[in-house]
Amino acid sequence: MPKTSAFASELTWPDYDAAVRNGQTPILIPIGAMEQHGHHMPLHVDVLLPTEFARRVALATGALVAPPFTYGYKSHQKSGGGNHLPGTTSLDGATLVAALKDVVKEFARHGVRKLCLVNGHYENSWFIIEGIDLALRELRWDGITDLKVVVLSYWDFVHEEAIAKLYPDGFPGWAVEHGGVLETSLMLALHPHLVQLDRAVDHAPATFPPYDVYPVKPEWTPPSGTLSSPKQASVEKGEILLDVCTRGIVEALRAEFG
Ligand code: ZN
Ligand code: MN
Repeated sequence: MPKTSAFASELTWPDYDAAVRNGQTPILIPIGAMEQHGHHMPLHVDVLLPTEFARRVALATGALVAPPFTYGYKSHQKSGGGNHLPGTTSLDGATLVAALKDVVKEFARHGVRKLCLVNGHYENSWFIIEGIDLALRELRWDGITDLKVVVLSYWDFVHEEAIAKLYPDGFPGWAVEHGGVLETSLMLALHPHLVQLDRAVDHAPATFPPYDVYPVKPEWTPPSGTLSSPKQASVEKGEILLDVCTRGIVEALRAEFG
């Protein structure tokens, strides 16, 4: 079976068909967002990072990477700066759920029985679960009951030991890691030509009251759009993150998919 690429969309249909028809080859679907990431990084960070994790994991496991979801659910002020910011281009929750449901059912129709959603945008989380749940329900009505779907966000594989190396001055928490050390270090390691560290704005981690207000109060978001400073980001930290997350995801998929 001449499988020539980790990306499903780069295969011919007979090669793709041969790879997935018997249900053995897992498909990894990166899912991100078009969202502002401060003054120093492009709008597609949340797509580029899960796509690269999926590619590395696919090479290690024999899986295939599906085309990514390039738009995601609306940016939340406390995790992505807010949906009011320029450049951030989001889907309604119902749109994302419907699109994901359709794609999951299509892969199942091709014969795929092992699927993994590789998430790069926190706000997608519950909508991914809803899309999968609706797809599995409709597939059951068609008599397909053996599709297994793994859902993960790459940052959840960063263990305590790595956190200590990445944040020697204290970990601010994933919620305010928008455009901060995590994403900037990964981008420096993978796509340095897309990072302008000299334009990064240094500021204390954003703090918010324990409630939300709608319409949002723009003054709650740091003017840069980032929720913590990217100044301590580095290629070395990016390499640590690539290593721990890729290994963690590979282990998880071996445990779930065999
Ligand atoms: Zn992001
Ligand atoms: Mn995001």
